[in-house]
Amino acid sequence: MKDYQVNNEGYYGEFGGAYIPDSLRHCVDELRENYLKVIESPEFKEEFRKLLRDYVGRPSPLYLTNRLSKKHGCKIYLKREDLNHTGAHKINNAIGQVLLAKRMGKRRIIAETGAGQHGVATATVCALMKMECIVYMGKTDVERQHINVEKMRMLGAEVRPVTAGSMTLTEAVDAAIDDWSKNSADTFYVIGSTVGPHPYPDLVARLQSVISEEIKQQMMEHEGRDYPDYLIACIGGGSNAAGTIYHYLDDERVKIVLAEAGGKGADTEYTAATISIGKDGILHGFKTLVMQDENGEMREPYSISAGLDYPGIGPMHANLAKKGRATVAAITDDEALEAAFYLTRTEGIIPALESSHALAALDKIKFNPDDIVVLTLSGRGDKDIHTYLSNR
Ligand SMILES: *Cc1c(COP(=O)(O)O)cnc(C)c1O
Repeated sequence: MKDYQVNNEGYYGEFGGAYIPDSLRHCVDELRENYLKVIESPEFKEEFRKLLRDYVGRPSPLYLTNRLSKKHGCKIYLKREDLNHTGAHKINNAIGQVLLAKRMGKRRIIAETGAGQHGVATATVCALMKMECIVYMGKTDVERQHINVEKMRMLGAEVRPVTAGSMTLTEAVDAAIDDWSKNSADTFYVIGSTVGPHPYPDLVARLQSVISEEIKQQMMEHEGRDYPDYLIACIGGGSNAAGTIYHYLDDERVKIVLAEAGGKGADTEYTAATISIGKDGILHGFKTLVMQDENGEMREPYSISAGLDYPGIGPMHANLAKKGRATVAAITDDEALEAAFYLTRTEGIIPALESSHALAALDKIKFNPDDIVVLTLSGRGDKDIHTYLSNR
């Protein structure tokens, strides 16, 4: 049996690891030495489970679609992460990491955010748990994502606009890392996806793995077997996908399809199709596939969906693609928009733009009539209404 999980050195195949400056070494070491001890302890599990149930609203339903299934000639279930408190899967991870921070004796939480979704999830949990919360955000993003900035402030977080460089996510990451290295004694850095130096990708994957734990149980209830033929999810950094596939990684009966953001086309300048066109490189502290120009410089990603607009990909997913365990589809903006309108009109569910990429991947697959598909609807589309309206 192949093992697609992280190894003792922090690698998934050739991807992952911890490529960090000396100033961060002690922060990352402290986290690596403590995370499994804490999150595997019965007390942590108990508190985490309770909050997921009573605060987030888990388990999220596994919903058998009607017209969507008919269209594709098979059974398509949606894993409804859109129904979670705050509207997406990100809250699962934020709760887990803030609980971990408290148990490690930290009192101050920092995070960075691009579109603002991870910032809002983190600020929400900090309000709940009475933790100080500072969110770094590029000044351009602060202006573009005004509503999320106001939500974070209302929740009691301090949003610090970053004015270096292109004033977006990359600079916000640098600012958060700088803060962490200077304040590691009392500060915990909450990362929002399966990215960053080891052990973050593994930590986030484990916290999100509740998604596939539930899929197993719910598949048993609905179908009398605990696995589907296909699992489909979108990938920005890869956390909702990691949660969806976690308990099925070594089960080769289950095909894995990952939908990345093709933007205006993977062969154009405007894309975030990292796995399709990326080359080996190091980004934000780990080895992965990175979108690069001829000189090996990182290329600016583009996607209509802010949550998928990332020039790298989690090391777990880079490895799954390289080993052929997962199939990757690059979905264009137009394909995602069409899938969003279709789901809205046929099932009465307005999906997040990110999730719409996973929905559009259905059109790339030829299903058999007895196939069972589970597709993770990572979030709801309220935040994307403006984009939907201007593309109608
Ligand atoms: C942030 C976000 C994503 C992308 O992040 P992953 O870590 O790849 O899951 C996908 N969907 C929604 C709704 C998001 O908010």
